[in-house]
Amino acid sequence: MKTAIIYDDVFLKHDLPKHPENSLRLKYFLKSLPQFDFPILKPKPVSFESLEAVHSKNYIDSVRLSCREYSPGFFDPDTYYNSYTYNSAVFAAGAVEKGVELLLNNKYETVFCAVRPPGHHAERDRAMGFCIFNNVAIGAVRALLLGIKKIFIVDFDAHHGNGTQHTFYINPKVFYFSTHQYPFYPGTGSKEENNEHILNIPIQEGSGDTKYKEVYGEIYRKSIETFKPEIILVSAGYDLHKDDPLSNLEVTDKGVRFILEQILLSAKELSIPILFTLEGGYNFHALERCGKITFQLLKSI
Ligand SMILES: [Zn+2]
Repeated sequence: MKTAIIYDDVFLKHDLPKHPENSLRLKYFLKSLPQFDFPILKPKPVSFESLEAVHSKNYIDSVRLSCREYSPGFFDPDTYYNSYTYNSAVFAAGAVEKGVELLLNNKYETVFCAVRPPGHHAERDRAMGFCIFNNVAIGAVRALLLGIKKIFIVDFDAHHGNGTQHTFYINPKVFYFSTHQYPFYPGTGSKEENNEHILNIPIQEGSGDTKYKEVYGEIYRKSIETFKPEIILVSAGYDLHKDDPLSNLEVTDKGVRFILEQILLSAKELSIPILFTLEGGYNFHALERCGKITFQLLKSI
């Protein structure tokens, strides 16, 4: 598939050494990228039209003000900010927005947004779980504004994307499919929260590749074939890996490869564009290997 990567060093400036969500994560994830000759495009800042469709103006202003006047600090016990955080977050969301625009203009078939800070926990009015702005939700809103009527978001991060689910909970144009460790942080993502376009698949700790093969080989494929989306957006959280310090799902390199293959093949079979945006993943060496697996598959499928 014709693929582009969106990346900029601005994503390294939001940083707190020794915090699990630090800039080295992204460096390790991208370590193998030079072996592949993908075009690497620069992001743009997010448009206020898309940003304000997902987050309240008060919240956006408070993030900007905190970073400018009161940094460094914490928005919640997990989520730090420094003087660059607002800018990094604006470009992370803007990367996903630009990726969606490129795909819908048929410039590429696949885009991978290698961004920080991650996004899927960010709520309308607050930062949460290392996330400032909800990058994938902002990308989906951009697609809706450009006239797309059916969007499929698949989120394989070890944690439930509470912010993404809440953004689209009553919008049947967006299907949200999430696999995540449960019960676990952030507490949401039970089957009871499912509706006709929200499909949470809670996964017990220790489940490993077998469970993920069943879910992505069967349930995921059926859901996407039934919904018939025009675009797929992926919250790519590699913290489901067995070496990750923040989860206990026991998924191996092979399991990660299987999940990515199923997702890429589903886009290929439906002949629709697909965008990935980086969410979690906190073991450097697992991230490096998962990055390489991802880029190999983007080359070969
Ligand atoms: Zn996570």
